[in-house]
Amino acid sequence: MAMTINGYKIYPIICEHFWLDGGAMFGTVPKVLWERKHPADEKNRVELVTRSLVIVGHEKVILVDTGIGQVWDEKFKSIYNVSPTTLQTELQKLGLTPSDVSDVIITHLHFDHIGGAISQEADEIQLTFPNAKHHVQKANFEQACNPNLREKASYLKPHFMPIEESGKFIFHEGQTELYPGIKLHVSNAHTKGQQWLTITDEKQMLCYAADLIPTSSHLRLPWVMGYDLYPIELMEEKQALLTQALNENWVICFEHDPLVEAITVKASEKGIVMDQNVKLLEI
Ligand SMILES: [Zn+2]
Repeated sequence: MAMTINGYKIYPIICEHFWLDGGAMFGTVPKVLWERKHPADEKNRVELVTRSLVIVGHEKVILVDTGIGQVWDEKFKSIYNVSPTTLQTELQKLGLTPSDVSDVIITHLHFDHIGGAISQEADEIQLTFPNAKHHVQKANFEQACNPNLREKASYLKPHFMPIEESGKFIFHEGQTELYPGIKLHVSNAHTKGQQWLTITDEKQMLCYAADLIPTSSHLRLPWVMGYDLYPIELMEEKQALLTQALNENWVICFEHDPLVEAITVKASEKGIVMDQNVKLLEI
């Protein structure tokens, strides 16, 4: 079974497991609070995943984010303890090959979202999804090409310039309905021009929150990542998303939560909190 919205079947897949510094992941939140749910390893890192969506329907195969991929040196892999990518085997399980992918929606060009879009055969770098349009916000591409010092280690040109050079980027400017029921929304607080996604019909709404709400722990408004460029704006964007999610009974899917794939929300005296834990394949 899979969640079906507006004639699209939606499959969550995990591309990699990786580990990021717990302090960076939870910003100003003390470790005594975050480590209850996210136990740190001896290097103070917490486990995360790269969870992509595969959306199949109306003669399209749409992949949302590509994970970290395989084109990395050993130093990088050991800093982040990255597991080998399973993106292609996960596609295979769905009866798909990389050439079947018609569209790749890139939420933003940080390495853990774009890295899987390129592959290496011998010494040659190739596009993993040769037939796909790669959708990104123009503002994000510009930010990635001229990164500030804070984000420089996250925007790596060798991972996205091959897409630009082969003319496979489609640049969007602001919110847009990519295909009927599939909307790209823009958030500028984690980085400039991040896009998050909603898939909707008259009955259901699925939201893929990308790095605006990377794990279920980040549902709490002040739990903002140290990576976020503009934390106060991020809280405002998150509040707006969660209010709409509450009013319209959305299912919210998390890209980086290793344990919680998706949830619904409810109002409580502590604000908007998790209601039900949802498995998209069981809806
Ligand atoms: Zn991320």
